Amino acid sequence: MILDDFVLFDEKGLYCKYGNFYIDPQLPVTTAVISHAHADHAISGNNNVYCTRATASIMQLRYDRTAAKVFNIAAFNQPFEVGGVMVTLIPAGHMLGSAQVLMEYEGSRYLYTGDYKLQPDATCEPIEWVTTDVLITESTFANPDIIHPDPVAEIRKINDIKSNILLGAYALGKSQRLINLITEHAPQKKILVHHKIMPINAIYEKMGFHPGKYQIYGRKLMKVQDEFVYIVPPFTFDSYIRATGVKRLFASGWKNLQVNNQDTLFISDHVDWNDILQTITNTKPKQVWTLHGKGDHLKAYFKDDIFVKILN
Ligand SMILES: [Zn+2]
Ligand SMILES: [Zn+2]
Repeated sequence: MILDDFVLFDEKGLYCKYGNFYIDPQLPVTTAVISHAHADHAISGNNNVYCTRATASIMQLRYDRTAAKVFNIAAFNQPFEVGGVMVTLIPAGHMLGSAQVLMEYEGSRYLYTGDYKLQPDATCEPIEWVTTDVLITESTFANPDIIHPDPVAEIRKINDIKSNILLGAYALGKSQRLINLITEHAPQKKILVHHKIMPINAIYEKMGFHPGKYQIYGRKLMKVQDEFVYIVPPFTFDSYIRATGVKRLFASGWKNLQVNNQDTLFISDHVDWNDILQTITNTKPKQVWTLHGKGDHLKAYFKDDIFVKILN
């Protein structure tokens, strides 16, 4: 039997009272299962954290001593118990170490996707599929109007840009994926990386995921036009608003983050509408619970076929 209150939002985040733990809490808690290291999912100050090794390494890099009191490192596909609930982390394909959280309790299966993607990405573990009774999915782009373009076609656009490029991207996950895509599909480009991105690359490399060919940015390097692509985090990107002699591009799945309509680089690490439908086909849920976005399109689409509940 599916428990309708298996997970519920309270002021600290998504709570499972049956196992007395939070998933990706927004405020520090006693016991947290953390899906991946992005800051909107992994905060500092929790007591007991269950996560993958990569997630713990990145949290330790970012938060140092306040990352967690105790890290309980879980390998993918190895069940462990948290307060009577069997928990298994399943690769989510979103960034290095990102996990779906499968929870089994009294014969029912609840699968929290976290952020996930289906597109291939050589810089992280590919998504894996398990079946579930309840799919608890993020729904950032759960809208039939949102179809992400092919990332390879998107990245190949930069081959036509002969000037140096300033490429804005989130430091964690997106930057490494871009280094990989550019190395593969625009190999004549010379990739320069902002110093803040370097320690994250080092963690990726330690875990066996080498993003590609790049070097740390140096002031002298971009003085000439030489097909440089300088990858910088959003804050630095914004501060270079008046930069001359470079083409500015921002890589994102969000339309409103693109610099202008001619120079778009739509590269998203989230599922689009078709990916969500594919996920529902693959995981065969009896119910779909949505969070982080809008569930109303899914609710209308599945009407009488699958019960859809909007969690937030
Ligand atoms: Zn994320
Ligand atoms: Zn997120």
